[in-house]
Amino acid sequence: MEYPVVVAALDIGGTKIAGALLRYAKAGQAPEVVYERQIPTDAKRGGGPVLVTVCDMANSLLAEARARREEVLGIGVSTAGRVDAETGGIAYANEIMPEWTGQPVRDRLEESCEVPVSVLNDVQAHGLGEARWGAARGAQTCMMIAAGTGIGGALIAHGKLVRGNHGFAGEIGHIACSQAVGIPCVCGGSGHLELVASGSGIEARYAEAGGEPVDGAEISRRAAADEPLAHHIIMQAGIALGEAIASITNLLDPDMVVIGGSVPKAGTRWRAAVQEGFERQIPPAQRGLPILAAELGDHAPLVGAAEDLLDTLELER
Ligand SMILES: [Zn+2]
Repeated sequence: MEYPVVVAALDIGGTKIAGALLRYAKAGQAPEVVYERQIPTDAKRGGGPVLVTVCDMANSLLAEARARREEVLGIGVSTAGRVDAETGGIAYANEIMPEWTGQPVRDRLEESCEVPVSVLNDVQAHGLGEARWGAARGAQTCMMIAAGTGIGGALIAHGKLVRGNHGFAGEIGHIACSQAVGIPCVCGGSGHLELVASGSGIEARYAEAGGEPVDGAEISRRAAADEPLAHHIIMQAGIALGEAIASITNLLDPDMVVIGGSVPKAGTRWRAAVQEGFERQIPPAQRGLPILAAELGDHAPLVGAAEDLLDTLELER
């Protein structure tokens, strides 16, 4: 492709819609976020009105680009929910975004903005962003884990995002976990990683074991202050995630694993527990696997969405 290239990117979540213009100045150089803005999603309005807002945001980005005399190549979208790769519509979204399921995001944006559009799940966009220009830059095969309220993940193999048959590839929150045996899960199963290793899991396990109903940040603070129960729950969360990373590593032999989301803010004890869980389960030859912190923060899904658009257009880089 001919540099410079400008791509508009959107990140649609349950609380906010972020939009940005990313400028690729030359080959081999990370895109720069040259303009960004965000607005509340107000998701309870329902999917239809949210999609109208998304189109407005996209058009405002194109107008901003025109004002800068930049031509926008297309729009890359990162969104909550599972994306139908064929149609670019939402195959499924949970109750955080009511009636988002079924919304024809790609078609509507292409109609409204008259530029090419690609649509990707937000965790997958996050992973693709980190793989291309973040902590996993240069990795051929890597697993990105988003440990926040829930646990999601994205798998990049040979530099490309693996979507899977139903768009579920990389979803590690609902794999079996020995620390969670017998605990029912929101997905309908039981005993899943998310129940002990996610932010909501940490809060639920702490309260269930007799702790006060406080948020994950407070539990982390209490753990750092040596409150035994908080310490135990945080350690369990870290060990469970570390064991899951060992399982993934057994299966995929990745170059590295990247962890993003809010749970890593739990700090050094949690991080040591992740390493401990990992080392308990990993064969010696793979013990040196780098387990790195995500680097791009809120920009990761925007960068990943832009990368997905460039991949979709099959431009030579
Ligand atoms: Zn589950």
